[in-house]
Amino acid sequence: MSGIALFGGTFNPPHLGHKRLLETAIEAVIPEKTIVMPDRIPPHKQADSIADTDDRLEMCRLAFSDIPTVSVSDWELKREGKSYSIFTVRYLRELYPDGRLWFIMGSDMLLSFEKWFCWEELLSLCTPLCLARCTADAMAALTQAEKLSAATGIREAAKTVQASPLEISSTTVRDILYSGGSPDDLIDSRVLQYIRDHDLYTNIKDR
Ligand code: ATP
Repeated sequence: MSGIALFGGTFNPPHLGHKRLLETAIEAVIPEKTIVMPDRIPPHKQADSIADTDDRLEMCRLAFSDIPTVSVSDWELKREGKSYSIFTVRYLRELYPDGRLWFIMGSDMLLSFEKWFCWEELLSLCTPLCLARCTADAMAALTQAEKLSAATGIREAAKTVQASPLEISSTTVRDILYSGGSPDDLIDSRVLQYIRDHDLYTNIKDR
C-alpha cells in the first residue's frame, strides 16, 4: 500500500459511476487512505440545483463508506467561498508530505485539466488518476496524460486506468427523479432511500 488518494466531486447525488471509478482507482494503486471530499461550489457549475451540503455529505457516506480505506471528509464543505482543488491539494500535501497523492477523476476532468486553476502547481503536488467516463474517452485520456507529461516534464504526470466505464451522471439521476422516475439501477439503494426520506430532487423548478 502506498500513498493517499483524493476523490473530489459535487456528488449531487453520488451514483454507481462514481463508485466504479473509486473502486477501480483504489484497485489500481492501493492507497493507504482514500479521502472522498464533496466540494462546496464547484467553479465550473451553477449552484442552483445543488442539494444541501449536509445531504451530499451523508449521501457520500452511504454510497462509499463500505469500501475499505475510504473516509468522507467535510473539509471543503466547511471552507468559505468556491472550492478550487489547489487549496485542498496543498492542505493534503501538508498533512501527508511523503509518497504519492493521487487525485481520482473522470476523463472529462482530465481532458480539461489545463483550464483548472493553478494546474501546473497541481501536477507538481499530485497525480491525476483517471478512468474514462465513456468508451470514446479512453484513448483521449491516454493522449492527454502524455500531453501533460510533455508540458510539465513530469514523467507520469497523470495515470489512466483501463476499465469498462459506467456511463452515468448525476444530471441523469436528477432528471429521472425530477420527472417522477426511480433511478434504481444508477445509484445505491441506501442513497435512493435517503433521497426519498429527505424529499430531494423533486422540485422541477430547482433543475
Ligand atoms: P453532474 O452530472 O451533476 O455534472 P457528475 O455525474 O459529473 O455530475 P461529479 O460529482 O461532478 O458527477 O463528478 C465527480 C468526479 O467523478 C469527477 O471527476 C467526474 O469526472 C467523475 N465521474 C462522474 N461520473 C463518472 C462516471 N460515470 N465514470 C467515471 N467518472 C465519473
